[in-house]
Amino acid sequence: MKNQDCIFCKIANGEIPSATLYEDEDFRVILDLGPASKGHALILPKEHFADLYELSDEAASKALVLAKKIAAKLTEILKCDGFNIVQNNGTCAGQTVFHFHIHLIPRYKNDSVGLGWTPGTLTSEDKDEILAGFGK
Ligand code: 5GP
Ligand code: ZN
Repeated sequence: MKNQDCIFCKIANGEIPSATLYEDEDFRVILDLGPASKGHALILPKEHFADLYELSDEAASKALVLAKKIAAKLTEILKCDGFNIVQNNGTCAGQTVFHFHIHLIPRYKNDSVGLGWTPGTLTSEDKDEILAGFGK
């Protein structure tokens, strides 16, 4: 199902043109207009899911297989030195377009892509709380 107001629905379904690297029945893979690095691509399902929480199991399983395939092809073409797969959910996590998508970000030695964080400490309180949530 498509969402009338969603720009990625329009791009994924071909209503808005995009630099398309790959397309099948379920997905379109496009180049990001504001790339973090050369070759930054986005995997867009044609069906509208706002985020990972809404994503169907079927689309989820296909999406990672596709990510693997496109990452391998981009690596072959660009001769990049590494790869990040990024997927943002929620404004606080950096999501700006609320149609599920996977970022494929080629990495190059000494590039200036900033995806890091400052490691904290796993406290026993946090660990116990989270394990308890999983019934462990
Ligand atoms: P988010 O921040 O939601 O994880 O990622 C949204 C991404 O979509 C950004 O990297 C942004 O550059 C890209 N983007 C936003 N609008 C367009 C568009 O119209 N076309 C393309 N190709 N990329 C877009
Ligand atoms: Zn959408």
